[in-house]
Amino acid sequence: MTSNSVESKGYFGEFGGSYIPENLQKVMDVLEEQFLKYKDDPRFLAEYQYYLKEYIGRENPLTYAKNLTEQIGGAKIYLKREDLNHTGAHKINNAIGQILLAKKMGAKRVIAETGAGQHGVATATACAMFGLECVIYMGKVDTERQALNVFRMELLGAKVVAVDKGQGRLKEAVDEALNDLVQNYENTFYLLGSAVGPHPYPTMVKHFQAVISEESKRQILEKEGKLPTAIVACAGGGSNAIGSFAHYIDEPNVRLIGCEPAEAPSISEGVPAVIHGFKCLTLLDEEGNPKPTFSIAAGLDYPGVGPEHSYLKVSGRGEYVTVTGQEALDAFQLLSKTEGIIPALESSHAVAHAIKLAKELSRDDVIVVTLSGRGDKDVEQVFHMLQK
Ligand SMILES: *Cc1c(COP(=O)(O)O)cnc(C)c1O
Repeated sequence: MTSNSVESKGYFGEFGGSYIPENLQKVMDVLEEQFLKYKDDPRFLAEYQYYLKEYIGRENPLTYAKNLTEQIGGAKIYLKREDLNHTGAHKINNAIGQILLAKKMGAKRVIAETGAGQHGVATATACAMFGLECVIYMGKVDTERQALNVFRMELLGAKVVAVDKGQGRLKEAVDEALNDLVQNYENTFYLLGSAVGPHPYPTMVKHFQAVISEESKRQILEKEGKLPTAIVACAGGGSNAIGSFAHYIDEPNVRLIGCEPAEAPSISEGVPAVIHGFKCLTLLDEEGNPKPTFSIAAGLDYPGVGPEHSYLKVSGRGEYVTVTGQEALDAFQLLSKTEGIIPALESSHAVAHAIKLAKELSRDDVIVVTLSGRGDKDVEQVFHMLQK
């Protein structure tokens, strides 16, 4: 293991960086160079904008949750509707952005890891759209638990490799995907799904998710004539949250609030440590290994978090709170009943906190909550939970 060859690159305070073997570092250096070359290129951006509009269906609305607001009787609650994107969540914004970069770099194959399958499905979707070979690494245990998502990826033309090593979970899937990348980097692109991993991934994923706050800022100024009091988003790895915060970070009067599950509180209770090639606030067990977590929302079940969130937390610019699975489950039902919108269980964590916060604020305050995804995928799980 070597530490970063080029210091200061991709650091947010002490967090981030790149703690990976030398052969992988070479691949990351090329990726960074290509990302910097294209990220503000007008032709590249025009293409990205085209697919955001014509394929994903952006811009999506910023919906005033009138019934919910009136029932709570505090601040006005607006919902940023990532749930209305094609494939039903924010992940596709990033998948399309990275695929366009992969095409520019001449890649013929795209690989990714997936845990519950959400990122695997987004990647397989984008690969089908762009006619690229797609290989998804998934722990064997996860392939058995998420058989329907495996089928969905296969339907989209991807090859799903069940990794039968170690515990057969996400960690082993990541290891296999990295092995593949080191061997095949000349024609292969590794599409990472959240604002985590070694530099340049956290910066790149933020770049492609920043469209969330670019739109919401314009939309709230149109609707309210002022900036919101607070932005509220859930944080697993932290990609929808950092995209929701991006255009407000330099607005000191806007509170930035990340919501993590009380069952996986990496930001609230973690310590600085290196996992998966970067440094962040991490939950560790007594032996110093990443601690297994359990959230009812698969997308939030991660013992670390993106480096920029770690920095926003220690610098005091961001506020991070925990929400229990039960509170999320209550919010899931309340938003469904009051607004006719079934939120993803991940997003329900943000909704739950927004409800608490709205009660503490006044009618003049405005809260923008990111609905990172829709809850159709969770209905069966919630059905079983409510039977108990
Ligand atoms: C994957 C996922 C998340 C968590 O990922 P982040 O990188 O933290 O945004 C949240 N919500 C939904 C709907 C997801 O699919």
